[in-house]
Amino acid sequence: MRKVTAKSILSSENNMNIYRGCTHGCIYCDSRSECYGMTDTFEDIEVKVNAVALLDRTLSKRRKRAVIKTGSMTDPYIPLEKELRHMKQCLEVIERHGFGASVITKSDLVLRDIDLLQKINRKAKCVVQMTLTTFDEDLCKKLEPKVATTRRRFEVLKELQKAGIPTVVWITPILPFINDSTENIEGILSYCIDAKVRGLLTFGIGMTLRQGNREYFYSKLDELFPGLKREYIRTFGLSYIVRSPNSERLDRHARRLCEENGIIFGTKEVFDFVSELGPENSQLCLWA
Ligand code: SF4
Repeated sequence: MRKVTAKSILSSENNMNIYRGCTHGCIYCDSRSECYGMTDTFEDIEVKVNAVALLDRTLSKRRKRAVIKTGSMTDPYIPLEKELRHMKQCLEVIERHGFGASVITKSDLVLRDIDLLQKINRKAKCVVQMTLTTFDEDLCKKLEPKVATTRRRFEVLKELQKAGIPTVVWITPILPFINDSTENIEGILSYCIDAKVRGLLTFGIGMTLRQGNREYFYSKLDELFPGLKREYIRTFGLSYIVRSPNSERLDRHARRLCEENGIIFGTKEVFDFVSELGPENSQLCLWA
């Protein structure tokens, strides 16, 4: 663990990352890319020690409510959070100031804070977004080895739904020649329908590879799927966007299943749903 003092905590889009680096071990992780400057230290978590105080100060100066979003670069519910509880304290700050929250995670540790998430949702809005990539549990353990499996994440989605907290599922990344099958998409969609998720994102069904995450991913392919690296190099070269030959068909299939089941589909549509506070919730109430 490396401690740093941050100068600011929210981006102009109200995104927040209280940790840098991640220990969930997903073999395809884009956050390992060199452009983020953490290639050698990715599992040595950087902790912004003043994150909670900084968030408190920042929100106290705001005149307009918004949804504070976290988890785009680092899962806020990494194992270290169990002991540090910075995410929990940030949610307490968000709740106290009457702001909304959106949390992206793969971890069942999010259930620890379910009461807080409910309170935020009652006051403003709270959405939990979970990534599901792989219906097959054994394959999931290979691709995402140190975090709750897809089955467990589905149980978490159901718990959240029972608690009245809206959820969104990200089906991304989908890895060519590994989990780019109709059975996989249908299996994940069956979980989404059962757990009554509100929105679904696919980003076109594919993955990204660039300097840093490509080397790590290829080393894992050699370890887990011997011979597949050659197929990737032959098919995709140095492409950043990597899509399977099945991407368009799988994306259409996911869209159709969503439309049939009343699930919001598409990047813009889901992002709008996550970010929008109702007009009654957007102005700051001094008595809240
Ligand atoms: S949970 Fe997200 S940030 Fe963490 S290793 Fe997996 S893909 Fe990377």
